[in-house]
Amino acid sequence: MKFPIFKTKIEGLNKKFDLTDPEQQKEYFKAKAGPEIEKLRKFLKKNTFVAYLLGKKNSGKGTYSKMFADVVFPERVEHFSIGDMVRAVDKELVDGQRKPKLVEFLKKYYRGRLSLDEILASLEKRDTKWLLPTELILALVKREMEKREKKTLFIDGFPRDLDQMNFSLFFRDLIGYRDDPDVFILIDVPESVIDERIRWRRVCPVCQNSRNLKLLPTPKVEFDEKKKEFYLICEKCGVRMEKKEGDEFGIEKIRERLKMDQKLMEQAISLYGIPKIFLRNSIPVDLAKEYVDDYEITPEYSFDFVNGKVVRKEKPWIVKDDEGIPSFSLLAPPVVVSLIHQLVEVLGI
Ligand SMILES: [Zn+2]
Repeated sequence: MKFPIFKTKIEGLNKKFDLTDPEQQKEYFKAKAGPEIEKLRKFLKKNTFVAYLLGKKNSGKGTYSKMFADVVFPERVEHFSIGDMVRAVDKELVDGQRKPKLVEFLKKYYRGRLSLDEILASLEKRDTKWLLPTELILALVKREMEKREKKTLFIDGFPRDLDQMNFSLFFRDLIGYRDDPDVFILIDVPESVIDERIRWRRVCPVCQNSRNLKLLPTPKVEFDEKKKEFYLICEKCGVRMEKKEGDEFGIEKIRERLKMDQKLMEQAISLYGIPKIFLRNSIPVDLAKEYVDDYEITPEYSFDFVNGKVVRKEKPWIVKDDEGIPSFSLLAPPVVVSLIHQLVEVLGI
């Protein structure tokens, strides 16, 4: 599976933008996709669409869709996670006031092999590891779409246990549910990138803010002389950010999951009749100059402890993509620029 490389470099545009600075990020989007953003805003004032996000775990689905919403139209675009939906349904089931409404909806829309009574009984006693039947997820997603009729949705977290047959049935059913356009957004990120995102991840114990010691440090970094390690200080809470247990194994623990995510993406690619947008996170080092600007590439940070002070160093980060080609990984904004351009094309606006 090879995704096309999107060119974000514009001849004659030589200004360098600091993409970590919110103001400069705004200017950057204006410079690289200004007219397209205007077209989308105009479109979204009166119309909606539904985007189905497919990509491996930690591929940036949430990051890209939230950034897209912020840049284009925060009030009209919503990132909607099926995982969060399932957790909310669990709460609904134990709420005497809300449960009857849920049951009523399911009576109308649920079509499946198990009876509704069986489904409800298993839902009530299930632990979180137990997967919901696909038909039930389908009905629940439809209910959420109905609640958000006036919004453009980026839906994330589809059942991974779908075979080819069920996959197309699932999406054909969903796609016909609302009258607005549908689009698949497929995200390709090398596994080496996912691996390092997990290995170097640091989370704030207070606000759950997630950063990365190597790829996305906070402004303030300190050195633990006892443990001989550098650590991040959460920029919101001022406390030391921590490593989550198991993160040091990187992708080892989610290999099976990644395989299933990959299969789901391949199934989406082979499904005709729905437009597809390809987002690519990496770019071969020897093609980078032609396609992107230097400041769009993810840097790698390292630290030294000199005379009681932490000194930060920065250089371009080079990883091997899934075919072993030395590549750069793009920061989120250029990927979102390519999403904006492709959407304008797909929607024909
Ligand atoms: Zn915090």
